[in-house]
Amino acid sequence: MKVYNNFSLKYFNTFGLNYTCETFIEVEYAEEIYSINKKYNLSQKKFLVLGEGSNILFTKDFDGIVLHPSFNNFTVEQEDSEHIYIKIEAGKNWDEFVRYTVEKNIGGIENLISIPGLVGAAPIQNIGAYGQEIKDTISFVHFFDFEKNVFRVYDNRQCSFGYRDSIFKNRLKNKIFITSIELKLDKNPKPVLDYYDVKNELMKNGIKNPTIKDISNIISKIRENKLPSPRMIGNAGSFFKNPIIDKNKFEALKRIYSNIPFFYLNENKVKIPAAWLIEKIGYKGKVNGNVATYHKQPLVLINLGNASGNEILDFANEIKNEILNQFDIDLELEVNVV
Ligand SMILES: Cc1cc2nc3c(=O)[nH]c(=O)nc-3n(C[C@H](O)[C@H](O)[C@H](O)COP(=O)(O)OP(=O)(O)OC[C@H]3O[C@@H](n4cnc5c(N)ncnc54)[C@H](O)[C@@H]3O)c2cc1C
Repeated sequence: MKVYNNFSLKYFNTFGLNYTCETFIEVEYAEEIYSINKKYNLSQKKFLVLGEGSNILFTKDFDGIVLHPSFNNFTVEQEDSEHIYIKIEAGKNWDEFVRYTVEKNIGGIENLISIPGLVGAAPIQNIGAYGQEIKDTISFVHFFDFEKNVFRVYDNRQCSFGYRDSIFKNRLKNKIFITSIELKLDKNPKPVLDYYDVKNELMKNGIKNPTIKDISNIISKIRENKLPSPRMIGNAGSFFKNPIIDKNKFEALKRIYSNIPFFYLNENKVKIPAAWLIEKIGYKGKVNGNVATYHKQPLVLINLGNASGNEILDFANEIKNEILNQFDIDLELEVNVV
């Protein structure tokens, strides 16, 4: 392990906020966590596991210990004629791993290309994009439990995955360190083409029978066009979750806004895009001091350069309140506020 005191987190959060932590520990091997827990008595201390900080908003210096995994190997655990089972360590960059699988024509996570962050964080909010979620391929999550002081393994069912949600974001939040995940991937990829944008681009490019490489290339380009790169503009992707509302409420809204986009989750529940609500309250591309909503995708809040974490949070709350007043819908944050 490597230990740094009074460490700047500027390069460990994609908003680019210059907060510090008391102690930053780079964990180089999964097994080290056991001795780190013993040495620092973490179940009694304030600590945070941090990947690339692409789903975090710091609002102040962190007066505790930050643990960052740098172990990043992956191994094929098992293989049969249809599937390949790969175990990937927490410190591996997610996008690098997706690109590796696409190059090998192994299917299952190709639509999740270009999502920032490390593998260890991927199950936390069950990352998803363009019709795929990591819950569709995860077979096991390996983690260290600080309260019980043991390494544990959960199968897919035990992870209680939901829309941008899992047991790790709820009951086990800040109590565990995910050390690796196991994915069951497809040797005979089946393209997932649920999204109009993707189908449209394939058509424009004259691709009738797309490979997963075609699909991931297209998704990567769509994302490049639509989302700001954190390297250029500080942001943490979607700041809010898309709200899920009752059918009755949705039908009432549809009578007023006939063009409201929607997706029926079941007979009674409808998901609507938070971006549409933000646009409707007139906040698309809105600038407020050092913070703004991104002009191409208002769900993304951006740091115009000198924002503080609290300025970003205040702006997010302003948006939440406006939407609550105008639509009686309470947006939930997707980003973790620390
Ligand atoms: C431009 C952009 C686009 C994005 N697009 C998407 C998208 O399409 N879909 C999507 O789902 N997300 C998206 N995100 C959000 C983000 O990339 C994912 O949530 C990602 O999985 C976060 O990884 P991270 O390593 O940066 O996690 P961090 O931000 O470092 O941490 C996120 C949370 O997980 C916890 N955590 C991290 N690692 C571990 C670990 N090993 N063990 C236990 N807890 C841990 C942290 O304590 C924190 O609560 C986007 C973000 C950006 C900036």
